[in-house]
Amino acid sequence: MTENLNPFAIAQTQLDQAAELLQLDPDMHAFLREPMREFHFSIPVRMDDGSTRTFRGFRVQYNDARGPAKGGLRFHPSETIDTVRALAAWMTWKTSVVDIPLGGGKGGVICDPRELSRNELERLSRGYMRSIARYVGLTKDVPAPDVYTTPQIMAWMMDEYEMLVGHREPGVITGKPLDLGGSASRGDATARGAIYTTREAAKVLNLDMRGKRAAIQGYGNAGSFAHKLAEELLGMKVVAISDSRGGILNWDGLNAADTMKHKASTGAVSDFPGAEAISNEALLELDVMVLFPSALENVITGKNANQIRANIVAELANGPTTPEADTILFENGVYVIPDFLCNAGGVTVSYFEMVQNAYQYYWTQQLVHERLDLKMTTAFSAVHEMAVSKGVHNRLAAYLVAVERVARAVRWRGWV
Ligand code: GLU
Repeated sequence: MTENLNPFAIAQTQLDQAAELLQLDPDMHAFLREPMREFHFSIPVRMDDGSTRTFRGFRVQYNDARGPAKGGLRFHPSETIDTVRALAAWMTWKTSVVDIPLGGGKGGVICDPRELSRNELERLSRGYMRSIARYVGLTKDVPAPDVYTTPQIMAWMMDEYEMLVGHREPGVITGKPLDLGGSASRGDATARGAIYTTREAAKVLNLDMRGKRAAIQGYGNAGSFAHKLAEELLGMKVVAISDSRGGILNWDGLNAADTMKHKASTGAVSDFPGAEAISNEALLELDVMVLFPSALENVITGKNANQIRANIVAELANGPTTPEADTILFENGVYVIPDFLCNAGGVTVSYFEMVQNAYQYYWTQQLVHERLDLKMTTAFSAVHEMAVSKGVHNRLAAYLVAVERVARAVRWRGWV
């Protein structure tokens, strides 16, 4: 049978497995299987040539029992409502597993931002915010950056919102530039959180990471900072990196500062001096200690899971591994740090940003790092202990921890 790669079907399957183990009440299970609210809208955008193009936008508030919905916005040509639903569900489990008082949401626009001019991108961003303004806000739902959205886009959206409501409310959106109420270290927070959990995984596995090899698939915000921090904080040697156009390999190691400069000037990692070309698929199967899938969904599936040779798969992307692959990796002894635990550093610092915005007093970078480390390390231990005590793989363990907390909040509210 071919695997079902619909991300929302995958998210529901994962929940079903957790519900069974938790012996979750069937009514609660049914409630948690579906998003609470969805918004679908058209965004007409005046293009530079005078024509009008209509883009489709979505925002899904999956569950807000534990607090306002929270989650990023993706601008991607192959965005679908089911992908946004899955990502919103994963945000619900993500905010729960790191125990921050927020729910889960996600948004998306079907577009290719690389084909838009800066002015078109600004009009699209402002149009998106106008479409959802009445449904978001500090106490309702707080968007943030994700694939192909940036601090500049967050700034335009915040400005649009504040102009509409007539007062300052920077906490309506996170991942803002520092000048507009962003938090110290929000930029590298997703990667930093993943590096902290990787450090903890190495401890429980008794692995010495210094000088060992790592590979990174995807070189956006998460992947590129993971490269820098794997060098700086773990002392690892990153031998392969890739982006949507292909990858590069050098067994002697690739220097983060140099490859980041190369990508910034050429727009891609390929053709980096001294490195050979490697495909995105081949990169996943390299003999490395840590593999960081940092791009999109469904890259480790039933087809290639047996070829994964890494000791640790640290999932910086959302949804990179399918349920079938999870079973294979678990049987093969590959230690997976599941996405909604591994990449929760981004939303954790987003939460810190909201807190700082609310009391208008800003933390030092050192304080952000300390508090992020504590959150990630505590969540990692809870998941690891659950996995060991129940004899299940880490993703299922993370679900057990997260779903139980959300279900408790739903129960206290009397919704189910
Ligand atoms: N987009 C990021 C994620 O998938 C961050 C979300 C946020 O900061 O709200 O976790």
